[in-house]
Amino acid sequence: MSEIIKYIESNKDRYLKELIEFLSIPSISNDEEKKKDVKDAALWLEKEMKKSGLENVKVFETAGHPIVYADYLKAGKNKPTVLIYGHYDVQPVDPLELWTDPPFSPVVRDGKIYARGSADDKGQIFMHIKGLEAHLQVSKSLPVNIKVIFEGEEEVGSINLEKFISDQKELLKSDYVVISDTSMYTDNLPSICYGLRGLCFMQVDITGPNRDLHSGSYGGGVENPINALANMITKLKDDKGRILIDGFYDDVLKLTKKEREEFARLPFEEDKYKEDLGVEELYGEEGYTTIERVSARPTLDCNGIWGGYQGQGAKTVLPSLAGAKISMRLVPNQDPAKIAVLFEDYLKKIAPRSVKIKVTSLHGGKPSVTPIDTPAIEAAVTALKKGFGVEPVYFKEGGSIPIVNTFKEELGADSILLGFGLPDDNIHSPNEKFDLSNFYRGISTLAYYYDELSKIKI
Ligand SMILES: [Zn+2]
Repeated sequence: MSEIIKYIESNKDRYLKELIEFLSIPSISNDEEKKKDVKDAALWLEKEMKKSGLENVKVFETAGHPIVYADYLKAGKNKPTVLIYGHYDVQPVDPLELWTDPPFSPVVRDGKIYARGSADDKGQIFMHIKGLEAHLQVSKSLPVNIKVIFEGEEEVGSINLEKFISDQKELLKSDYVVISDTSMYTDNLPSICYGLRGLCFMQVDITGPNRDLHSGSYGGGVENPINALANMITKLKDDKGRILIDGFYDDVLKLTKKEREEFARLPFEEDKYKEDLGVEELYGEEGYTTIERVSARPTLDCNGIWGGYQGQGAKTVLPSLAGAKISMRLVPNQDPAKIAVLFEDYLKKIAPRSVKIKVTSLHGGKPSVTPIDTPAIEAAVTALKKGFGVEPVYFKEGGSIPIVNTFKEELGADSILLGFGLPDDNIHSPNEKFDLSNFYRGISTLAYYYDELSKIKI
């Protein structure tokens, strides 16, 4: 391994140059106008993976954005086959005016690279390619059998990936899935994430009168859909942060004593947390710590709301339409399809008869848990210790990677979540960044990890 680590050390400058090139491609998957850019990011990966020494590199077209595949299957039948998954699409960038530098002109400041996708997830998939490249260039081989898939639709719900996985079961068959799309628990504390929350994302459309009305002539006599919607939203949670949708908590697994003890051991400074976010007080479900609230308990949040006049000055309108996007983060064993029905039933129950309501399910994903007492997780602990020189911790992540469940259901493979971002990387927000020290140590860790995985008897 020492030659491989030496190779990584001596190629850092080149890695940074290549990463900047990759991050400059605006691969925003929810924007029709960026379709060509998303494709360009896929083609960039194709070229990079060919250069790295991976074989059978192929771009699979889908009904949406392409999936890039590559493999290297020469380690032998008695070695594990590892599927590396990640995504090369990114979140939209607005509000653009809050970015210090343009989101697709990567800038390095204080040892961090600032750009959309730097941490989520382009920077992290790039690290895998470099870890594999180091093995392939130095040893002309890989210690395990490797398959790689990178998709371009993670940020829009992996619309076509599920079908791809079930169509290509044979091609993707593997013993483990490795995903680097999470954060370390905190700086200098390498972490293994063993649980992910699921997601249920809904849209609510409210219609009042059949056209916009003059609020002087009609105000007071006709329901205002914005008022009605706001009223309904306040009925989704009580003032103790508990969600009021009937049956919402029915399938929630209780946290074990052991889990709560592990959470309590994780370093967390509430004052620093508040200061970082610029808030005076934290808010959340009564009876749970902040760590539990943001990772191991379900939530409900309004993500967007609209209606009426929003231009300059005043316009005395009583609008016809109002709407909101509302998401719920789910925990084991909640099911997004079931929650979507409960949400719709509840909203229809509380909607006043003076408005029409339409509820649409936009996307969902199931929550997941990976057992921590397995050889692949132990190999990850060893690799993280070698890469960072620190004993890693276990934690649960509040975000969602719904595809983890698909890998389990379709391929029977557990996912190992080995992420190198930091909680303050501003993913999905302006000024997304990635710490270069984690980027470089992460490449070494991944190179160690492929080696550690090869010691597992299959
Ligand atoms: Zn991501």
